[in-house]
Amino acid sequence: MSRPLRAEIKLSALQHNLQRARQAAPNSKVIAVIKANAYGHGMTIVAHALNDADAFAVASIEEAINLRESGIHQPIILLEGFFDEDDLLLLQAYSLEPVIHSPHQIELLEKTSLTYAFDVWLKIDTGMHRLGFPPMEVKKAYASLKDCDAVETIHAMTHFSSADDQESLSTPYQISLFNKTIEEVGITSSLSLANSAGILGFPQSHADWIRPGIMLYGASPFVDDDIESQLLEPVMNLVSELISVREVLRGESVGYGGEWTCPETMLVGVVACGYGDGYPRHAPEGTPVLVNGQRVPLIGRVSMDMITVDLRGCKASVGDRVQLWGDELPADEIAHHAETIAYELFCNVAPRVPRVEIK
Ligand SMILES: *Cc1c(COP(=O)(O)O)cnc(C)c1O
Repeated sequence: MSRPLRAEIKLSALQHNLQRARQAAPNSKVIAVIKANAYGHGMTIVAHALNDADAFAVASIEEAINLRESGIHQPIILLEGFFDEDDLLLLQAYSLEPVIHSPHQIELLEKTSLTYAFDVWLKIDTGMHRLGFPPMEVKKAYASLKDCDAVETIHAMTHFSSADDQESLSTPYQISLFNKTIEEVGITSSLSLANSAGILGFPQSHADWIRPGIMLYGASPFVDDDIESQLLEPVMNLVSELISVREVLRGESVGYGGEWTCPETMLVGVVACGYGDGYPRHAPEGTPVLVNGQRVPLIGRVSMDMITVDLRGCKASVGDRVQLWGDELPADEIAHHAETIAYELFCNVAPRVPRVEIK
């Protein structure tokens, strides 16, 4: 018998969420964002389930090469572009499309001896102030890329800083600054602005290509909204089992630091899943855990391989199924308890947790 913890990946939910993105932005092509091992879901499993996507985006060249070698033929966009001259050979060999966000990348393209011509994504910084050319420098960057023999098509893109807040004025501002810059510079090629929050919350940002990430995995991109209202389906069920159920006496404490003390003699369940698997160590007492479909509270500190739960008022025995998050317990809710976001919960699911495809 192997350890019961696994991440079930529901392929039909992935496909549903991709359709949801298409339905929200019917005139746009889709770049499925599958960086960070597809937000922890397993990159090649996800890419093949989303075979219908028009393109994929990842952060590193290694991820892109893995994708190509697993048989993905769509365009693959490198969100951080390339880092040095040697990378260009790999970009050519695997026909990868870099984001161009800094003058040093343009210089490398200008002096390469490769006879290949790359499709590139010129990134404009409209307010995120992380990667990209400030609007005032776009004209020069665009002109240099146009003159460069190593460049074929130039797409243009930007990224939102605050689209998770539908009330924020930053997003409409970023959209208008992007459009104004494109117009002033005379960029006529295809455009991309929207992440998941842009897709679902700001239709005026859809343009030619949308870039859904978190919504594909069935979590909400908004701080104050749930997935039901966005018609998304959770993709990952993080499931395990009770590996011990025992009576602990009134006044005895449970777990490291003895932080939780039994107010009465009671049943305590032990679940095979801990922070070494990616469960958030800071999840406090009271964070819900689903045992046999019943919500029970986490008690005591999260350990590396285990958590403990309060089984008072609950029918449970060793071997019973536990869901840590998934279709019966939204990851957004667990994230809220642990003061993080579902993105981080998903990305942190450890390599030792097997990803099991559910057809
Ligand atoms: C990660 C990322 C996305 C996807 O964002 P979500 O909020 O997960 O939809 C889109 N564009 C860029 C540039 C990204 O880095």
